[in-house]
Amino acid sequence: MSSIIAISNQKGGVGKTTTAVNLAASLAVMENKVLLIDSDPQANTTSALGIESQSHNNLYTALCAPETLRESIVPTSMDYLQLLPANEDLAALEAELVDKMAREFYFSDLLDPIAKDYDFIIIDCPPSLGLITINALCASTDLLIPLQCEYFALEGIVKLMNTVDHLKKRLNPSLKILGVVLTMYDSRNKLAKQVRAEAERCFGKLMFDTIIPRNVRLSEAPSFGKSIIHYDVKSKGAEAYIALAGEVIKRCGARAGSKD
Ligand code: ATP
Ligand code: MG
Repeated sequence: MSSIIAISNQKGGVGKTTTAVNLAASLAVMENKVLLIDSDPQANTTSALGIESQSHNNLYTALCAPETLRESIVPTSMDYLQLLPANEDLAALEAELVDKMAREFYFSDLLDPIAKDYDFIIIDCPPSLGLITINALCASTDLLIPLQCEYFALEGIVKLMNTVDHLKKRLNPSLKILGVVLTMYDSRNKLAKQVRAEAERCFGKLMFDTIIPRNVRLSEAPSFGKSIIHYDVKSKGAEAYIALAGEVIKRCGARAGSKD
């Protein structure tokens, strides 16, 4: 069974898109079949892979006409990585879903028929806990939370955890928190160390061993339309995302092998 991993944290600018793109690319370079889904109307994931968001069918058009889903998925420069792009039309979705029946399940209904074609589906979520994120979490087997090592980092997490609890009780009992990954970590920064210690106290084993360092190559790569794997595979950023991919494979594998 494929793992469907939502990358979510309602706080903006914490490294969701950077993690979604580079984790997906790292999994793909290890020859896992990966579908990356951009579920953010900002379409940062789409442009980070050098794909022109206006010239393609996308998540929004596929939700409007599910029979077009397969033709909406675009190839990337990596053999094992495909993308379901977004564009700003997706911003209308929240309002359009509000009065629909079973409005939380539009993503899961859409993905059901294709999930088995992939080893991993990675969903980059927008910075909110609105209906798009709820749809992503209802369609997912796992949630991966990027946590930026800065002041207020943990504040919104309580709300995210409450949302996950609520979702597990009512909408998606099989959703698991795959883990929390620290992003943009600068070991010279005292505050970053404090946030790390607090996160470790709070999340214990849920913390990934891998920590994503602040690395300028990671911030440059999207402007070249490349993942860090193609932009600078020898960088600290690439090393970190490859290590994270290894941990993700291990955690998903362990879960697939366990009975609960
Ligand atoms: P949003 O909430 O707006 O969707 P986000 O959580 O997806 O934001 P990103 O877009 O991934 O966050 O990152 C925010 C900014 O920080 C970007 O400019 C990105 O290039 C930069 N960035 C992310 N991770 C790193 C890193 N490890 N080192 C250096 N810069 C980074
Ligand atoms: Mg983003």
